[in-house]
Amino acid sequence: MDITASLRQVKGVGEKTEQLFQKLGVYTVGDILLHFPRTYEEFPQIGSVTEDMQGKSMAFVGRLKTPALTRKGKRMEVTIATAFCDETPVECVWFRMPYLSKQLVVSEPIVFYGVLQQEGRKYKMEQPMCMSVEKYQALRQSFQPVYPLTKGLNNATVRKVLHTIFEDMDPEEDMLLPANICARERFPSYWIALQMLHFPNNFDELILGRRRLVYQEFFYYILHGFLQEAKEGSVTNPWHFSDTQRVEEVVAGLPFTLTKGQMETLHQIQKDLRGPWVTQRLIQGDVGSGKTIVAFLAMLDAIDNGYQAAIMAPTEVLARQHYESFLSLCETFSLPYPVVCLTGSMSAKERREAYACIADNSQVFIVGTHALIQDKVNYQKLALVITDEQHRFGVKQRERLAQKGGQPHMLVMSATPIPRTLAMILYNNMQISTIKDMPADRLPIKTCVIKENLRKKAYEMIAGQIKKGHQAYIICPLVEASDKTEAENVTDYVEKLRCYFEANVSVGMLHGKMPSAQKNEIMNAFETGEISILVSTTVVEVGVNIPNATVIMIENANRFGLAQLHQLRGRVGRGKWQSYCILMDQGNGEKITERLEVMNRSNDGFYIAGEDLRLRGPGDFFGIRQSGDLNFRIADIIGDADVLQQASVDVHRFLEDEANLDHYPQIKAHMARFEEENRLVL
Ligand code: ADP
Ligand code: MG
Repeated sequence: MDITASLRQVKGVGEKTEQLFQKLGVYTVGDILLHFPRTYEEFPQIGSVTEDMQGKSMAFVGRLKTPALTRKGKRMEVTIATAFCDETPVECVWFRMPYLSKQLVVSEPIVFYGVLQQEGRKYKMEQPMCMSVEKYQALRQSFQPVYPLTKGLNNATVRKVLHTIFEDMDPEEDMLLPANICARERFPSYWIALQMLHFPNNFDELILGRRRLVYQEFFYYILHGFLQEAKEGSVTNPWHFSDTQRVEEVVAGLPFTLTKGQMETLHQIQKDLRGPWVTQRLIQGDVGSGKTIVAFLAMLDAIDNGYQAAIMAPTEVLARQHYESFLSLCETFSLPYPVVCLTGSMSAKERREAYACIADNSQVFIVGTHALIQDKVNYQKLALVITDEQHRFGVKQRERLAQKGGQPHMLVMSATPIPRTLAMILYNNMQISTIKDMPADRLPIKTCVIKENLRKKAYEMIAGQIKKGHQAYIICPLVEASDKTEAENVTDYVEKLRCYFEANVSVGMLHGKMPSAQKNEIMNAFETGEISILVSTTVVEVGVNIPNATVIMIENANRFGLAQLHQLRGRVGRGKWQSYCILMDQGNGEKITERLEVMNRSNDGFYIAGEDLRLRGPGDFFGIRQSGDLNFRIADIIGDADVLQQASVDVHRFLEDEANLDHYPQIKAHMARFEEENRLVL
């Protein structure tokens, strides 16, 4: 079967199923093969029934002393049995499963698997799975994949389609990685590795299959970087910069003093602009470290020297915000340069005006989203290009913006802390600046993790901050109610909130499915203080800056990765006021709480990323993705750092030995496909 074939070609996939898959961006056989499990279900070791297992998922071996009984309830049949784990009785209840009373043989050892509950002194389990000890032990070896789904599509369907595809295919041995590397690492073929990832027979297979895919993703990424660099070489700096006073004047006139890190970074950029080569520089700085002002000053330097400068943001909200703040800076300092904004949601007329402004002004601040890389935009003398929150962009998009402008210097700004050694591999041809210090006036954010019982207290605390004239964010994972999960959704939440807060507290709602114009309106209202509480999905995660907001409450915090929580928390603590982060822990496992405790302990993005990794178990191998993973499909920069380093060494050596890829037709062909996406492809 051809990997480019549409899913409909797979036996058993009808039109309806195909449409559901399409909602997930899965169109072809190849797409579904790369639709990796979100996590795996595993079954716990058999344990004994004790008080501290209460509320947890567990398995025990029990024996019945009397047969199970089924009685007809009002609405359904209820089956009840008492299983003895040694001498401890556990009352088990099943609904609509009358056949169980025959299957559960008295005195036979049976494994019961479910959530252990305690009522008074009695233990209970509702709807436990039950099976023989042998069967359970076999099940424990295997991992059942759990996929990202959409309403109407379940795991069983995804598994079935994949099984069919794997059965139908008989692929040849691949040569996508050099043979000596595959031998050294004992890598399975690409095909087998995919199979191991979807349906691992045991944990070792999962690790090995995944490792091969991660390695391959890194290998091609690094190889691409090298080949690109070799092709382009160093480009002579075509721009002429002199030393103007303007940047210094603005720095001196700011309402705050730049931190040491900001100053150093700015000086490095100014030196780049005046250097012999066109440069690319990565600026790393934790959330709130003040990267935007550095970007503005660098752009001012370019514009003041007679050129255009552009900054591209990943979301409309963020682009708008940069636009507003640049406008106000230009006004404050009476800078004689226009600021132009270009986003996808603008009307045709507005867009035409923006194009004209870019075409007519050789000295202009250009702010926008992806719209900046469209064909219609004609830059002139674009000397500096900046991408903010760069991890949200593909390398392709970055390159396209650079290409449009001739040979601009490039800055990429990232709030995802990566250790320097790794950054040097991933951004092989880039200089690196790190802003380590936070602005001096900041107080560390106070964080607490709470359970449902303190909800009222949390709202009281938020109300207190609002009384003082501040604002609050509340983050929910979902846009609207879902039948798949219990997690909070913004739509219902706004309603619920009304009974906790006085009528004069205005509540706004924001999520990614809203039309852009409406999003902008809401963000503006929040910025001007018209809205006191903004109930939002994670769309506010990247970059949004409202210093007057002093509390962020995150619902179902246990569902978020730590890196993401850290980014969310970074929405507050952006002014001189004490700020707070309330993490609502709706999980019931101990592990999750332990993870959230990390947020309690530290405000340091580096430390948090490290702990996130340490606390990941095999089950959440894929469950928790670092945000800011450079768009890799499977590789995780921090978690797979060792693979990254190995791949880097290997690519070096490979290119030394085999400067000519023509000897490796498969690698060469695959490279061409890889370049399209810059992440794992089939
Ligand atoms: P990030 O690095 O997360 O993009 P921003 O650039 O949005 O952070 O800056 C956050 C806030 O800090 C902004 O309101 C900005 O004006 C302010 N800020 C930036 N630098 C300083 C500084 N040196 N001292 C005080 N406040 C600063
Ligand atoms: Mg920012």
